[in-house]
Amino acid sequence: METTLAPRYAESPQGLIAQEILRRCVHCGFCTATCPTYQILGDERDGPRGRIYLIKQIAEGAEVGRETQIHLDRCLTCRNCETTCPSGVEYGKLVDIGREWIEDRLQRPPTERWMRQLLKAGLTSSWFGPAMRLGQQVRGLLPASLKAKVPAYRPPGPIPRRQHARKVILLKGCVQPAMIPAIDAATQRVLDALGISSEIVPGSGCCGAIRHHLADPAGGLENARRNIDSWWPQVNAGEIEAIVINASGCGVMVKDYGHLLAHDPEYAERAERISRLAKDPIELLDALSATLQSVLAPSLAVQRVAFHPPCTLQHGQKIKGAVERLLTALGAHLVPVADSHLCCGSAGTYSVLQPQLSQELKARKLTALMANGPEVILSANIGCITHLESGAKIPVRHWLEWIDERLESKPA
Ligand code: SF4
Ligand code: SF4
Repeated sequence: METTLAPRYAESPQGLIAQEILRRCVHCGFCTATCPTYQILGDERDGPRGRIYLIKQIAEGAEVGRETQIHLDRCLTCRNCETTCPSGVEYGKLVDIGREWIEDRLQRPPTERWMRQLLKAGLTSSWFGPAMRLGQQVRGLLPASLKAKVPAYRPPGPIPRRQHARKVILLKGCVQPAMIPAIDAATQRVLDALGISSEIVPGSGCCGAIRHHLADPAGGLENARRNIDSWWPQVNAGEIEAIVINASGCGVMVKDYGHLLAHDPEYAERAERISRLAKDPIELLDALSATLQSVLAPSLAVQRVAFHPPCTLQHGQKIKGAVERLLTALGAHLVPVADSHLCCGSAGTYSVLQPQLSQELKARKLTALMANGPEVILSANIGCITHLESGAKIPVRHWLEWIDERLESKPA
């Protein structure tokens, strides 16, 4: 689609990026059929092609209205449409730009402003962890709606202290260590069993995705720069081979630092190098399948597993089928799951901001996951895990927790 940028965007980097993305869209509508919100709501403006058209109108100078904001808010940023699109339209980047433009020009109702501020500040603050721990202690007394947001506490267990020649940095993150610290501990034990040391560097923290996706790009970049500053001494010294991010939603964000900071002369080069080092754990473990098999306890019962690949893993990072392949090699019986390309409705803060759509998508996803009688649901992103866990009748775990449970020996 040819787009003539309005004067206010004509010279801006974002305007030019949006124009380039819009140029690739041929308006064919293939993406619409695989869009979860279009499937539920059936309105063209709640599908990718309609949203792309709304953003094009803003780019060309149309008035920004509340209707447009609502249709873009309903988008999960799952990027399923990118996987479907035959023309390579980078919808995720475009919708981020569209949302920022709307945020600049249209004030939200006070309750929405308050809620978004609370999420931005609360989820990434230092008191989120203690508050979550308190919530977990009194979980049995909480009302159902709040209980669904507070996963039951799982003790993390011992952290390995051995040093190996192979070293990686582990992203500290924000929500995950507060909600399920067992995931990071399990990751560190699995890496240790494979002869890889991992360190969570003091001073690092949230990857920036929460602020970025709440149309606060400056806040997201502030988080990114802080992480780069924390990691840089070890990266620059060539001491580490990767930055491992075991929440796929955060992985997408860190892999995008290079793009997001491309216009920052002070950080562009470092951000690019950090992004090249960013890896989902499966990108390390895929090549170590045989070694992993040798460190697992022998003769464990085969378990029926339903795997939910997060959108941020399969559509964002374009990693498809690798975790499933590894789990099968390690003895899991993976049951078929229909429509595994569709979002579970978690989508970062979406489950709070769009509860009805989110709940509908969760119900659909759980029906698909449970259809073939699994004993456990595994996934790769903290948001999906806690979201599905709140409605599932069987355990929901990170796939690294599942492997960790099967290690033959663990650090004392
Ligand atoms: S985004 Fe891709 S699939 Fe969707 S309408 Fe445009 S070209 Fe077609
Ligand atoms: S990102 Fe997901 S919800 Fe948004 S338009 Fe694309 S497919 Fe639909």
